[in-house]
Amino acid sequence: MAQRNTRPAEERFNDKIDKGPDGKGYGPKGCWKYLGYHDEAGYGRFRVDRYRKVRAHCYSKALQIGRPLKPQEGEQGNHLCNNPWCINPDHIDVGDNDRNQEQKRLQGRAKGGIAVMFKLTPAQITEILTSEVSQRELARRFGVTPQAASLGIQPGMTGREAVERMLEAESK
Ligand SMILES: [Zn+2]
Repeated sequence: MAQRNTRPAEERFNDKIDKGPDGKGYGPKGCWKYLGYHDEAGYGRFRVDRYRKVRAHCYSKALQIGRPLKPQEGEQGNHLCNNPWCINPDHIDVGDNDRNQEQKRLQGRAKGGIAVMFKLTPAQITEILTSEVSQRELARRFGVTPQAASLGIQPGMTGREAVERMLEAESK
């Protein structure tokens, strides 16, 4: 007969963290992989106890800040690294729904408009919106230079500022 797992949740969770072969995580940012179950959206799921199943990255953040997130007050764990599977608490921002909605709205609009204009993939749009790359770096990587100038995008702007400027120009 299977023994019910009575080990503390935190201990069980720690067993499911994969910090990579050298312990520095994966990718340039050092993302941590979750070894447990992942849902369809790519988020890890962790069973805290018999009654509660939570998203793994939220649980990881909760452990770091020493208290559970409060979704009933609009709190949620937002990935700064944009990897849904990542459970590195340093990559997770406790944000509220409003801010996340704003981010989503911006991404949605960016995907429809400038993505077509500049032939950017959704992944590139996401990268631009979440990184602090300069416009020059952006131009180098995505080749947005010719149109960018006419839209008022200045060298030295962050990718996010550049996207916002493009969206402003687009809505005029
Ligand atoms: Zn990460």
